[in-house]
Amino acid sequence: MRKALSRVRRTVGVHGSPNFNRRPEGATIDTLVIHYTALELAPSLEILSAPEAQVSTHFVIDRDGTICQLVGMADRAWHAGHSAIHGRADVNSYSVGIDLVFVPGVDEQYPGEQWAAMVDLVKALMRVLPIKSENVVGHEHVALPPGRKQDPGPLFDWNKLRSALSAPGHPGRGADARRNRKSKIENRKSRVA
Ligand SMILES: [Zn+2]
Repeated sequence: MRKALSRVRRTVGVHGSPNFNRRPEGATIDTLVIHYTALELAPSLEILSAPEAQVSTHFVIDRDGTICQLVGMADRAWHAGHSAIHGRADVNSYSVGIDLVFVPGVDEQYPGEQWAAMVDLVKALMRVLPIKSENVVGHEHVALPPGRKQDPGPLFDWNKLRSALSAPGHPGRGADARRNRKSKIENRKSRVA
């Protein structure tokens, strides 16, 4: 979380978008939609922040892994348009939008740095929000009518993402860190004593 959020903090507030509204009262954020921008970073941020464009997203991740936040998590970003998941309409109301800088026909892959930043961010969001792995989806999976959107497209490796999300991460790291901290304190105490 700290790693992902420090990346976010680097640019947060710099690229605020006015294109958002309130989520419905009591909405539970339980879905995450992955997109590609189809444009380079600068024009993507420009469009996603232009009032007349009427589109936005919560996060944009550049190819080098830099994350820009455009809309606060509590607010409803305008990324999925007409959409439904598991029969539930209006995905924007209860989802987080993540846009990867990727130009179809030009980019041949999602670079490792970008992928790693996305996995960190998705995991961080899943720790603080009730988002299950099956609700981490692509725009192409939720856009209506079906076939309206193609992003993030065939070069996005869903199996790789699913296995990254189901991996236990760093088992026992928290406990180890606590133990180490405690033993350091105890060492110091014994020196003092
Ligand atoms: Zn999209």
